Amino acid sequence: MNAGIPTVSLKIDVDTLVGYLEGVPRLAKILDALGVPATFCIAMGPDRSGLAVRRVFTKRGFLSKALRTRAAATYGLRTMLFGTLLPAPLIVQGRPEIFRQLLLSPHEVIPHGWDHVNWHDYLVHWDLDRTRRELKLATEAYERLAGKPCTAFASPGWQWTRNSALVEEELGLTYAADTRGWAPFFADLGERPGKVLQIPTTLPTLDEIIGRPDIPAKDLLDYLLGLFRRPPYLGAQSFVPPSRLHHVFTAHAEIEGRRWLTLFEDLVGTLMAEGFRFVTLKELADEILVAGGIPVCRVVYADLPGRAGKVACQLAPSGRA
Ligand SMILES: [Zn+2]
Repeated sequence: MNAGIPTVSLKIDVDTLVGYLEGVPRLAKILDALGVPATFCIAMGPDRSGLAVRRVFTKRGFLSKALRTRAAATYGLRTMLFGTLLPAPLIVQGRPEIFRQLLLSPHEVIPHGWDHVNWHDYLVHWDLDRTRRELKLATEAYERLAGKPCTAFASPGWQWTRNSALVEEELGLTYAADTRGWAPFFADLGERPGKVLQIPTTLPTLDEIIGRPDIPAKDLLDYLLGLFRRPPYLGAQSFVPPSRLHHVFTAHAEIEGRRWLTLFEDLVGTLMAEGFRFVTLKELADEILVAGGIPVCRVVYADLPGRAGKVACQLAPSGRA
């Protein structure tokens, strides 16, 4: 990676059937027209988004977020009922050609869990065996459909545990995008550093800033662009910023791929015009692993503004590998 050129990785999470069927083709069309590669992270199992409604009662802040982001309008009523009143459909298996089309394109495709809702809500309670079972459901479904080994993973809802890190090692993954933070790192697992490179998302997601009273809808694009132009910064955490400007932005097929498509197109187009270079997460991982000097950091669960429930966040470095 050229040290002087600011770079961006677009990580596009696909959590639901509607995101897969409608959001993915629209986002791919925009990115292909601009010649920009992205990393699509696709939940490989059932869409049980209806169960997320359960979080209204179990997770503080979910209801206000659901109202603020107009969840029913964003996801559609059917999606809100999958797994409860309506049976949970498998996301990729009904229309595998969308998945295969992406594999043939310049984009990268990696699994984003099996059952997104399950991982999001229960991972922190799972032992090693249960974690392994769920993670392998995702990677094996990916390998069956893709016809090639799975080398990366992006965890649903930035939920990460020592057990999930150990299974990622067992599977021999090159990198995992499970956390929020400011630069790629190896997770401090206590007795030793983890072996799988962690690539954190460095910026807030659109759904974390939509509807914030201090950011009117007309200013969302400028607000986001301002964040891209600055070095990554996570909350009040103090840290040494990386020598080069690199951001990882997580978009959602359900959000940027539907109601906020124009904003996404304007965002990517403006970043291109400003000279940002776009790399997939795999390209980023390969460059970082060759360069070496990667920080080792602890991971802790923390609240982020605009997000309901805690997510796994990178702490200041405790060493280098
Ligand atoms: Zn997700």
